[in-house]
Amino acid sequence: MGGSNSHKNPRFLSICSGNLTHSILSQSLYHHHRLSSLLSSPSSFFFTLHYLHSLSLPHKTLLIAKHFLSSLHQLTRHFHPPPLPPHPSATIKHRDLDAALLLLLLCEVHQYNPEILKTPRTEWGRILSKRYSDSILMQSGVGVHYGGVLLPFVEMIIRCWRFVSVMGGCGRKERREVAAAPSAVVALPTVELKGGGGGECVICREEMREGRDVCELPCEHLFHWMCILPWLKKKNTCPCCRFQLPTEDVLGEIQRLWSFLIKKDFFAEQRVM
Ligand SMILES: [Zn+2]
Ligand SMILES: [Zn+2]
Repeated sequence: MGGSNSHKNPRFLSICSGNLTHSILSQSLYHHHRLSSLLSSPSSFFFTLHYLHSLSLPHKTLLIAKHFLSSLHQLTRHFHPPPLPPHPSATIKHRDLDAALLLLLLCEVHQYNPEILKTPRTEWGRILSKRYSDSILMQSGVGVHYGGVLLPFVEMIIRCWRFVSVMGGCGRKERREVAAAPSAVVALPTVELKGGGGGECVICREEMREGRDVCELPCEHLFHWMCILPWLKKKNTCPCCRFQLPTEDVLGEIQRLWSFLIKKDFFAEQRVM
């Protein structure tokens, strides 16, 4: 793959576009709004806490993973070219979003103010609500500008990544093999080969002859349909350049969008990793 994007400006400028900042700002505000109303309403707080308690650890991990994936999608869709959007099954419902936001807050409290969790549970809503609004006041002291919005968002993303890496086994050195999403495979275009054919199909090592219909992946690599279909049932990557197609697996999607950001040096630019 042609790795060197010919941006003349530093990449920082290319991603710090109004769209990205605006999208992160509106998503952060939405999360603040949901978490604040959750904490200030005793009934929704207990409902959500009860829901969290009913979930097993793998379910909690999936919850954080879905929240993480929807945030990664917000970050990556403004890049040029954007990666393909995640599979719709990876979207998060309101109830799950609330539970994920509360779970992340509880993890943070457990790390920095564990004494709060020793108080009676009936007090948690009130104390957490106060702690949360204090932290928002501190953030708004920093100001709603690029760093003030983006850095807390990136920190949230990294917290999710650690949680999912530890619990879900994401981010191991060896990539998990995941099938491409059938909806993504069905949407792949057919190309009729003209003018001398398309060279060798790297899967079967045979010539793709002129006049034949072959499959084109979004990275523009061509393959015989009969060769690429069984391949994509096992892996979501291009056999030539490892371009990743969407999958139906939440952890697979996280890996795909995460490695997209790593390739774009997003985290290096934020100097947070
Ligand atoms: Zn072939
Ligand atoms: Zn390719």
